[in-house]
Amino acid sequence: MANLARIESNAKTGRRERAVTCPRCGTVMDEVARIAPSLGDPGLIGYECPSCVYVTSEMLQPSVQH
Ligand SMILES: [Zn+2]
Repeated sequence: MANLARIESNAKTGRRERAVTCPRCGTVMDEVARIAPSLGDPGLIGYECPSCVYVTSEMLQPSVQH
C-alpha cells in the first residue's frame, strides 16, 4: 500500500493549478507545455486532451506584487 500513500502526498503538494477540462469531451486535460511569466509578461500553459487530442492554451498571469 506504499503506492497509495505516495499518490496522496503528490496530490497534496498544493500546486495552485486548476484542472482544465476539455470543452469537447469534458476529460481533464494534460499540461503539455508551460512558459513561465517573466518581468510583467504573462506566461502560457498548453493543454492537450488525452481523449480527443483537443489542444488549448491558457494565459498565466504574472504574480501580483504587493
Ligand atoms: Zn477531449
